[in-house]
Amino acid sequence: MTDRYASFVQSAAGRALVKRIGLPDPPRLRRHRPGDPLLPGPVLLGAAADGRLADPVGELLAAAGVKLREPAAAAARFGALVYDATGITDSTGLRQLYDFFHPAARSVTPSGRVIVLGTPPAECATPREATAQRALEGLTRSIGKEFARGITAQLVHVTRETDEGTRVSLEATLRFLLSGRSAYVSGQVIRVDTGTATAPVDWERPLDGQVVLVTGAARGIGAALTQVLARDGARVVALDVPAAGDALAEVANEVGGTAVQLDLTAPDAPTRLAEHLAGRYGRVDAVVHNAGITRDRTLGRMDADRWDQVIDVNLSSQERINDELLARELIPTGGRIISVSSIAGIAGNRGQTNYATSKAGVIGLVDSLAPALHGRGISVNAVAPGFIETRLTARIPLVIREAGRRMNSMAQGGLPVDVAETIGWLAWPASGAVNGNVVRVCGQSLLGA
Ligand code: NAD
Repeated sequence: MTDRYASFVQSAAGRALVKRIGLPDPPRLRRHRPGDPLLPGPVLLGAAADGRLADPVGELLAAAGVKLREPAAAAARFGALVYDATGITDSTGLRQLYDFFHPAARSVTPSGRVIVLGTPPAECATPREATAQRALEGLTRSIGKEFARGITAQLVHVTRETDEGTRVSLEATLRFLLSGRSAYVSGQVIRVDTGTATAPVDWERPLDGQVVLVTGAARGIGAALTQVLARDGARVVALDVPAAGDALAEVANEVGGTAVQLDLTAPDAPTRLAEHLAGRYGRVDAVVHNAGITRDRTLGRMDADRWDQVIDVNLSSQERINDELLARELIPTGGRIISVSSIAGIAGNRGQTNYATSKAGVIGLVDSLAPALHGRGISVNAVAPGFIETRLTARIPLVIREAGRRMNSMAQGGLPVDVAETIGWLAWPASGAVNGNVVRVCGQSLLGA
């Protein structure tokens, strides 16, 4: 799928026309290429008085090769603005945000980054502190909408009860958010807790040696995911239905992975899959539940088959496979379960009661399983894609498709690789303390926001 309008406005003739008549202006997004620096410019790092994270964050950014600037250097152009707001304990202290961001607001490079670090409100010592910390969300979400030009803005909640897993996972999260890997992720609140996390020997290969299962790998997001995971060092087990066998073999062969032809809804699918993984690798470090289908109809016109198929593929099969792999202890300590939800599961969608129910159920699965598996050192997260350019969205009628593409802060649809990079980061051994999150990959879509 190509977005012809975006290609046009990025040309010289297109740019002139867009400026003259005020059409939507989708910027060219910075996406990760191996070997790229994390950012196209220095980071302006600031902190509220008594912030607990500015020093460790400064150290880890410097170790990552990022150039740091103090607020006094506000005349420069910045690749990112990073602000430690953990010291804000009262609404009157929010003025410090204005003092930091106002002078720098117009100095961020295109596809730059804004990251605010805060304390989860539930962990705050007083109601006033929790109020002030909750207020940070309004700032980051508005910056994502206001700065435009492919600039993303996120709030990262870092637990007070930090351990080594928190430190490593904060580094992994900052590396992901600053880099081009997070091109289509904006307006998110990401939580970094305590947990099992291991830094890689080489951050260019953050999945070195990991065995990762990808369902629905024959095309679309699953195929992009297979490439991204293999690029980052994983051994990929690519699964899809037998009818997609040829495409699946091509995807798996390209990256030296293995192909498993299996219909996830078959009664023996969990045992066959578990036996394959046990026999071939003895374990699976990360399970990515990506396979999904739509069978759209308004509820009054929907036959029961459409309802059943969607719930079974998108939700129940995930539960059965998780249960089997966990019962056989094939997911080790430090393992990951990552599910693909959808913004339809957050916002709901006309004609998609079955699909939205299944995708909201995926969020419920994350909410319930993440705390239950924390003690086993296994983290559970989901991504919720917005409008992604695939065959699935190519089938949407033109006018609705155009609206879906433009109704977000990036004024364009995302690419399968954007979802793949986000899932990849959640699968890194270094991200283990990122647990129970649902991260939207939607360019800050207005739907369900
Ligand atoms: P796609 O239709 O291109 O690919 C889905 C893959 O899943 C196909 O290869 C299909 O054969 C496989 N699959 C379906 N049923 C299966 C089964 N029973 N057993 C094994 N494999 C099965 O879709 P996509 O756009 O790449 O979407 C991937 C995931 O992302 C889905 O869960 C989808 O709901 C979700 N998603 C996509 C978008 C988007 O804009 N494309 C938005 C939100 C969420």
